[in-house]
Amino acid sequence: MTKRREEKKQAATGRSKVARGRKQAPVQKDKTPRGDRREARPRKRGAKQAPLVRALDQRQDRGLEELACDIEALTPLVDPLALEMEAGHPLIWDDTDPALRPAANQLCALIEADGGTASISSAFRPQAYQDHLRQVWDRAKELDANDQPGCLDLRLEVARELGKHALSTSRLVGKTSRHTQGRAVDISWRLPDAEDASARVAELAAEAGLTHPFPAQDPPHFELA
Ligand SMILES: [Zn+2]
Repeated sequence: MTKRREEKKQAATGRSKVARGRKQAPVQKDKTPRGDRREARPRKRGAKQAPLVRALDQRQDRGLEELACDIEALTPLVDPLALEMEAGHPLIWDDTDPALRPAANQLCALIEADGGTASISSAFRPQAYQDHLRQVWDRAKELDANDQPGCLDLRLEVARELGKHALSTSRLVGKTSRHTQGRAVDISWRLPDAEDASARVAELAAEAGLTHPFPAQDPPHFELA
């Protein structure tokens, strides 16, 4: 077969295939290069999309205006100490029990003497701050069971807050805390040499006058005994 005849044949079969499908639609040649064509294809919308992606999609489809969200917004913080903590200064000793700070320092020294590392990350928390943490946690749980596209902005805000405070919906945030009573301290610690680090840190805490009440759920948390 000559080159010219082969070209003719291909053109003919191509046309006949198209003609079978749609009768009069003109065949438009897509001149986009292959790589670009793939990007232009619309993304598949499956049932497995995350709520945030689904909300973004629906918002695009329906416009922003009349979308409602039945979940209440986060209450803005006004307490000065809570604002200070939120601004990146989480370690506050004001209003703590006078025994707390020396005990925390002693525990850090004991951990370091045992070949570990320790640093205090949080002590006093105003109730307003605890309320804020609890509210973020409450909203996150409500949002888990909600797919209203109108809740998108709240969803983004709550996701940011969860990350910022290292919270998870799977770990309870209490309405009250020993931190608000000035009797608890959070210490990030490691005891790489210990066979059972959790048991060892509880021993050292007892020596410093502290307890380690939630070893699995909240390892950094220590309270005055
Ligand atoms: Zn704590």
